[in-house]
Amino acid sequence: MTEFKNEKVSLATVWLSGCSGCHMSFLDLDEHLLELEKHVRLVFSPLADHKRFPEGVDVVLVEGAVGNVEQLALARTLRERSRVVVALGDCAVTGNVPALRNRLDSEAMVRTVYAGGMDFPGLDPAGLDEKEWVPRLLPSALPLHRVVPVDVFLPGCPPGPQSILAAVTALVRGEPLVLPEAMRRFG
Ligand code: SF4
Repeated sequence: MTEFKNEKVSLATVWLSGCSGCHMSFLDLDEHLLELEKHVRLVFSPLADHKRFPEGVDVVLVEGAVGNVEQLALARTLRERSRVVVALGDCAVTGNVPALRNRLDSEAMVRTVYAGGMDFPGLDPAGLDEKEWVPRLLPSALPLHRVVPVDVFLPGCPPGPQSILAAVTALVRGEPLVLPEAMRRFG
């Protein structure tokens, strides 16, 4: 890994409608995480116990499509509070797997999954209001750029750890991001 600047950069990672595979790929940086930790402060992430997206974030990696009203609010907040927003992985870049539901009626789907599947004694699914349990789905799962401006797109399902390392290293060092040819492909 090449040299970083002296000051620590604030890094956030966000998990929207995704399978967590992109975060797993981030963890697959393995020993490079130890080097990165010397130059980065992790200020918000599902990998740690942060409750509120902070102000003044330098770089945020966003996994997943925007699928419900909570995620929409978080996407807008992270955009307002971050200098560089990275769409991490195909779900954030294109919608990918979460967008497979876009041809379906979202309310009917939630009822089927959350109420129709319930078979507990004494529980009447017809009397349940799914809106009380889960954040309301948007009619479609949207790629991040459909909701807020995105600075960097990092495709792949998930992006490989080497792609993530190259991107985060460049961004943390304030350098242009140029991925090697072999990394500029999906998969
Ligand atoms: Fe999972 Fe692939 Fe979506 Fe990443 S891009 S959240 S690995 S389905």
